[in-house]
Amino acid sequence: MKQNMKITILGGGESGTGAAILAKKKGFDVFLSDNGAIKDKYKSVLKNFEIGFEENGHTFDRILDADLVIKSPGIPENVPVVKMFREKGVPVISEIEFAGRYTQAKKICITGSNGKTTTTLLLHHILENAGLNVGLAGNVGNSFAWQVATRDFDVYVLEISSFQLDGMFDFKADIAILMNITPDHLDRYEGSFEKYAQSKFRIIQNQTENDALIYCYDDPVITQRINAENQRMQLFPFSLMEIEFEQGAFLKNENIIIKTHNKPFIMTLEQLALQGKHNIYNSMAAGIAARLMDIRNDSIKQSLSDFHNIPHRLEYVASVHGITFINDSKATNLNSTWYALEYLDKPIVWIAGGIDKGNDYSMISDLVKEKVKAIVCLGVNNQKLFEAFDKKVETMVETTTMEQAVISAYHLSKKGDVVLLSPACASFDLFENYEDRGNQFKEHVRAL
Ligand code: ADP
Repeated sequence: MKQNMKITILGGGESGTGAAILAKKKGFDVFLSDNGAIKDKYKSVLKNFEIGFEENGHTFDRILDADLVIKSPGIPENVPVVKMFREKGVPVISEIEFAGRYTQAKKICITGSNGKTTTTLLLHHILENAGLNVGLAGNVGNSFAWQVATRDFDVYVLEISSFQLDGMFDFKADIAILMNITPDHLDRYEGSFEKYAQSKFRIIQNQTENDALIYCYDDPVITQRINAENQRMQLFPFSLMEIEFEQGAFLKNENIIIKTHNKPFIMTLEQLALQGKHNIYNSMAAGIAARLMDIRNDSIKQSLSDFHNIPHRLEYVASVHGITFINDSKATNLNSTWYALEYLDKPIVWIAGGIDKGNDYSMISDLVKEKVKAIVCLGVNNQKLFEAFDKKVETMVETTTMEQAVISAYHLSKKGDVVLLSPACASFDLFENYEDRGNQFKEHVRAL
């Protein structure tokens, strides 16, 4: 890229600030613009690096004069400012695409509708325990660009969302992991599941026969697409079925078997730190990637068994008078809630609701009928939940604060039951974000 190139960065959050630092270090003429307020911590970093910026609105004369735009993933494609750049023919890329141009490190990239953060952290834990000089970036921790600018890692484990993928063109993952593709964020893809799935599949673009794709064999959306074309990269499927792959991960007599190029890896399901079907998938995916990085079997086994689960994902909170409280606030779509309901084997009082992203509740109606004794709705608009479950579940109540929800759930349950917060919806109607929702849940449970 030419040195005097002008770069406009849209968005002054973690990824925009990171991209600005890297662009500045590479000697480009960089300016960052945010339509809203920029957090103080990012403003002081921008000042330290002497990077020009503006907030609470765009000065179009200034920002449109650019050769390249790096757009934060939170900014939708259809906002006026992005359209203006498109009309002018200025390339718009993501921070991951930009940072990928400036590192020789090996990149292991994880995407999917659910399980990205868990698998990313799990794999990072395995590689770090094995002594690798490994960075953690993408949607978790510090942005990739920021680390490429300031650190010197040999390997990166990157969690990549579909919004990041949409701005990726020449980037190549050395190892790509595709967890699953189920409906989510369709509001950003003109309601089209096909477009969303296409976006997820960008994780394999540019891969060659030296690269690897680790993917969920049990997900028909993924397998159909993989089978439809001759794939160049090496394929490593993982499955909960007892089918023996020549290369990949599968189950055999309650054991996980992972086969790559040498000695098979074997571990009992019981030994896994993360329990539940979904977490077997996550452990398999991370395990295959670790094998491909030549980590020793006993080291992988140790890390898969001593990993501490991250908050808000099927997190055990407390037991009050024999009632177990589980915080799964990160379940912001129906598929993740399905796994939570499937996993629990006690009568459930289910706290659900929030902003619906297009849920089709019939997908979980059998599970609800079988396991849920009461539903506590926690959202501004609970109509869809009532329509779906009013006749299937004995008791349904409406609440509008977490305190009411926890107290109602507590009164509706008895010794031996589980109270599960797994909303299947976004949180923004009543909470700041899913962390706030989960933290309030924990606070009110502890106050019981
Ligand atoms: P992401 O980063 O993709 O949002 P997380 O690891 O944060 O994924 O988990 C989000 C939610 O999905 C949690 O409720 C978690 O229990 C559930 N989950 C985790 N892994 C999977 C998986 N492989 N399939 C389905 N649901 C999952």
